[in-house]
Amino acid sequence: MTPDHGELLYEGKAKRVYAVAEPDQVLVEFKNDATAFNAQKKAQLEDKGRLNCQISARLFELLESAGIPSHYIGLAGETWMLVKRVEIIPLEVVLRNVATGSLCRQTPIAEGTLIDPALLDLYYKDDALADPLLTEARVRLMGVADEAQLLAIEQLARRVNAALQPFFEGIGLQLVDFKLELGITPSGELLLADEISPDTCRLWDRNSADAEDRILDKDRFRKDLGGVMEAYGEVLKRVQASTSNPRNCM
Ligand code: C5P
Repeated sequence: MTPDHGELLYEGKAKRVYAVAEPDQVLVEFKNDATAFNAQKKAQLEDKGRLNCQISARLFELLESAGIPSHYIGLAGETWMLVKRVEIIPLEVVLRNVATGSLCRQTPIAEGTLIDPALLDLYYKDDALADPLLTEARVRLMGVADEAQLLAIEQLARRVNAALQPFFEGIGLQLVDFKLELGITPSGELLLADEISPDTCRLWDRNSADAEDRILDKDRFRKDLGGVMEAYGEVLKRVQASTSNPRNCM
């Protein structure tokens, strides 16, 4: 079911953004397109859009009940989400509780090392530059965010971690790391934007000791492990069991 919408405003790798009658809102459609390694690897994964949309909606509502503001307004169909219109800050904000992925490729830190307090890494959201790792000084130099915004972004990211880590523990999942995007409303409010899903979080099954079997996130696609949608489905099943049905705006 497709909700009524206006013109296509933006199409990214995993989502399309459409105008709606309300000028301060937009509709986001979650696509089945999967990409990795800055879109060098591509595939269509049947049902991915629905799974990520439904997982994200429930996680945004969970964060809302913890007092963490996001762009999320409500669902508008299985793969559609109504959100507040924001200007996206061109930063990918990554929080790491366990060392893996690029951290282990770029440093001698051993895979699986617990990181407490979590490590905050900032990347410049720019496909042409392949999302380079930044320093806070570079962020300030580029004028992407000022000192106060950087502090607010870090605080928000740490509050998200503090809410999501125990939630995922409760459903037998280890929140290894995750990426956030933030946006600014016309009135200047900083909001979580984008999505929170197995595309953007690494989640390891606590019930599995096997280093590959336990992966329930996009690493299954990146590493050609198979069972990608089964893993996302398992995450949704567990999230559903511990959250109430998300709001529907249609
Ligand atoms: O690749 P890396 O180890 O830096 O990824 C850290 C976290 O950020 C992972 O959860 C990954 O899925 C997420 N990420 C993302 N989008 C990117 C880069 C990383 O969602 N462009």
